[in-house]
Amino acid sequence: MSKEHESNQPVRATLLPYGQQWLDEQDIEAVVKVLRGDFITQGPAIQAFERKVAEYVGAKYAVAFANGTAALHGACFAAEIGQGDEVITTPITFLASSNCVLYQGGTPVFADIDMDTYNVDPAEIESKITERTKAIIAVDFTGQPVEIDRISMLAHDRNLVLIQDAAHSLGATYAGRKIGSCADMTMFSFHPVKHVTTGEGGIITTDNERYYERLLLFRSHGMTREPEKLTRTDGPWYYEMQELGYNYRMTDMQAALGASQMDKLDDFIARRREIAATYNEFFSTLPGLVVPKQYPMAESSWHLYIIRWLPEYFTADRREIFEALRAENIGINVHYIPVYLQPYYKGLGYCSGLCPNAETYYNTAITLPLFPKMMDKDVVDVMTAVKKVYGLFLK
Ligand SMILES: *Cc1c(COP(=O)(O)O)cnc(C)c1O
Repeated sequence: MSKEHESNQPVRATLLPYGQQWLDEQDIEAVVKVLRGDFITQGPAIQAFERKVAEYVGAKYAVAFANGTAALHGACFAAEIGQGDEVITTPITFLASSNCVLYQGGTPVFADIDMDTYNVDPAEIESKITERTKAIIAVDFTGQPVEIDRISMLAHDRNLVLIQDAAHSLGATYAGRKIGSCADMTMFSFHPVKHVTTGEGGIITTDNERYYERLLLFRSHGMTREPEKLTRTDGPWYYEMQELGYNYRMTDMQAALGASQMDKLDDFIARRREIAATYNEFFSTLPGLVVPKQYPMAESSWHLYIIRWLPEYFTADRREIFEALRAENIGINVHYIPVYLQPYYKGLGYCSGLCPNAETYYNTAITLPLFPKMMDKDVVDVMTAVKKVYGLFLK
């Protein structure tokens, strides 16, 4: 950092986070109502929330989980991923998108990204398919849907299960279809930085009854009491464990919060789109900065806004640029470190250089604050800080 920069006042006096929930009195009331009632876990609020999400995305079934990671684990179980099975996914994602494969004893295979959208490149997926490939986990990175029509075709032709990690893309559409109704199973997360929150929480939507039944079993110890599913009965108390499941249940307090948050989802997304459009317009006038390209078929719900800083334009590297923006009290971030570069994955034998686009992307990307509760003033602060740091380091 240069001397004159250090002596300058930061653009903001306090840190603006990159993402944050937005809870109102209606949300709080909804949770309190559950607390005053008879059920605080697996009562009626769970089903009401599941129905609400299923209807919103246009899916037949929805199964709520304790978090998005547990939901992905459930999807891998439902898809019967096991030892020796390969599952193709992207390296530019949160760890959970590939950890869920490892939980089931399967092998994640990383396909490189498209440098325009940073989503997995369907041609790269195709090149990684072998006779051991069992499934594809496609991630709608930043909220822009993957090219789901091409990926569905690949999956269909080769009899692969298609799981969509839509943690970023609740409310997004592809060719006019809501995400959540396009893949065999779709996962949404309700972590506080995501579009709507339940504190911790996740859900799988599906049209497939068999997957639905397996997800229900998996969420609760692999156990059932439903008479028509039992292999025998010792009496009315009888329950049976038919699979090795977990306790991955969501509570009623969380589901009530989620249902109340869903009422605001479309407004949240509208505000995210508005901020993204303001950013796009401003940053696209600055040579050396790359704004996120959107494919015409995909309408993003804008979980993340990322700009890339092309190194040849600047006297500083990404780390210095990052630190300078943080010094302005802008809570920027980097999404994500390519998963296979993590020490644990390296220990499994994955090597750097595996996905060159993903690594180039990683070395140049910075995530800017984007959340619906941001005020216009906050948006201006972000643009002012970026412009200031840009001016400081432009060659
Ligand atoms: C948040 C997230 C998850 C996991 O969700 P949790 O609810 O935090 O467990 C999975 N994949 C992606 C891409 C995410 O962003």
